[in-house]
Amino acid sequence: MNHARSRKPAAKALAGAPSLEATDVLKHLHFNPAEGLIWLEDRRMVLLHAESIGALRQELILNLGIEATRGLLTRFGYSAGCRDAELAMKIQPPGTSIDALMISGGYFHALQGIVSPPVIVSQVVDVEKGICEIEFYWRNSYEDQVHVAAFGIGGSPACWMEVGYASGFLSTCLGRRILVREVECRDMGNDMCRCIARPADDWPDAQLDLAYFEPRPFRIIAPDVDAPSAPQPLPARKESAPRAAGGGEHGVIGASVAFNSVMHKIQRVAPTTATVLLLGESGVGKSAFAREIRRSSTRADKPFIEVNCAAIPEALMEAELFGVERGAYTGAGEARPGRFRVADGGTLFLDEIGSLPMTAQGKLLRVIQTGEFEALGSVSTHKVDVRIIAATNENLWKAVGERRFREDLFYRLNVFPIQIPPLRERRDDIPLLLEHLLRKYGTRHGRRIRGVTRQALQILLAYQWPGNVREFENVIERGVILGEDDRPLGYHQLVSVDSKLSAEGSMALNELGLLTDSSNVHPEPASHEAAHEAAALNAWAEGIVARSNVSLDIVENTLVKAAFKAAQGNLTKAAQLLGMTRAQLAYRVKKLEADGASLH
Ligand SMILES: [Zn+2]
Repeated sequence: MNHARSRKPAAKALAGAPSLEATDVLKHLHFNPAEGLIWLEDRRMVLLHAESIGALRQELILNLGIEATRGLLTRFGYSAGCRDAELAMKIQPPGTSIDALMISGGYFHALQGIVSPPVIVSQVVDVEKGICEIEFYWRNSYEDQVHVAAFGIGGSPACWMEVGYASGFLSTCLGRRILVREVECRDMGNDMCRCIARPADDWPDAQLDLAYFEPRPFRIIAPDVDAPSAPQPLPARKESAPRAAGGGEHGVIGASVAFNSVMHKIQRVAPTTATVLLLGESGVGKSAFAREIRRSSTRADKPFIEVNCAAIPEALMEAELFGVERGAYTGAGEARPGRFRVADGGTLFLDEIGSLPMTAQGKLLRVIQTGEFEALGSVSTHKVDVRIIAATNENLWKAVGERRFREDLFYRLNVFPIQIPPLRERRDDIPLLLEHLLRKYGTRHGRRIRGVTRQALQILLAYQWPGNVREFENVIERGVILGEDDRPLGYHQLVSVDSKLSAEGSMALNELGLLTDSSNVHPEPASHEAAHEAAALNAWAEGIVARSNVSLDIVENTLVKAAFKAAQGNLTKAAQLLGMTRAQLAYRVKKLEADGASLH
């Protein structure tokens, strides 16, 4: 890069156009010393001594080593950057350009006393073409100041939190992973710190930086440097490819604090043989996390068998899990080994464990305790070595209270519970998930989609996602199908098929004054039909609500009944008609019946 190029302060470059200025950001900062509170808009802040943070940093480096500390602080900064980007998107004046929005991150950062606003050397951003290349300087970094004070001038960049912050801020603004790399730093003897921001895909060696966004197990290690100031090249990590970089078909993806905390637990427990219980709402990706445990375990190359306990009829459950001896019952012509024997040496994932019938619960308890069981109709005992991962979205303890679930089995399964957070509690992961899914479904459906428009991104970030990652994935897949090559997905392409998302999205956009701004909204001919359908559905719903004595349960019950009627009682077909999986519908039917509803 040519350092001699004009260095223009960010704000001046944008004179005239609506933008979020440093003073706008300041207006949102409120002090309430009487109550011990500082607010940046609706987020609580704290004012700390840079020196104390410096001491903490020094202690972390000495105890955890420089690499682990760098990772911790990068992720810490990333989280703060995501928070501030959400806030910036909320308070930006209508018509703010994406360039101005991105630059405003520097004002938040500066307001917090971290570093000067960036001086932009060059900035080329084209959301539709997927281009983002920014080179900037910053001055007065508190981070390299405390680092140099503790360790002297070294050979590596030291502004870890700040780089994490800028990455989080830009990723949230653009809806895809942007990696900021500090190529010059005061800790390397430079006068200022120089950074380059690019999409992760555009760095030939992104894994060098991505490694710091990955959570790794906390352990106290011998410090990997006596003098952290000694020149160190960026370490080339030989460990597995960063999860967040690619994330295969079933990979888990994220960088949020909530995600990292889950990954820490997974990395602790994976190498052991302990039974793991994955808890969390429907759609949070429990199966993907189970595969992640297997991938990080010593059984990575051994079988991984998945059983959805809610999808298998109660009468067949035992045969399914433990196998059948020939002629064990009418119709059991052939002997079948059962999932436990197939999984021998590997991992068995029991999803929706709360649906497991009582008799199978007893047998499962015995396998967990002794590894032994008998196939249906057999007297010979099999012994297997199977690691069990169970998952549920219901409160198992409540099921124990209702005598639907054995207490002894509950304790056996609950050795190492991991709560998978709902998507709304890991919003920082949305840009990463979005990027991954656009690529995945783009490949699957032969589309080259260029990200999403800002309105669309704002909705994706603001929505509550009751159906979690699964719902998010559906919305993106349908969006990709409706989308056009070389264009970003617009708001309408994403919401047209999800009436709840559509309603909440319109409300949020209205609040932000963005719905009337049609410049970035691309209504899609293909979505007109869906829009009509949504309108008809709205009218129908309004009619029902007007009658005032109809509850949601009755509506749900009626819909399920209608689907069963149309499917002539076939559960799988009825589920298809309702756009659900067989297991989901089975669960709902069970719930409806438990509430005393009759489906016939
Ligand atoms: Zn620096």
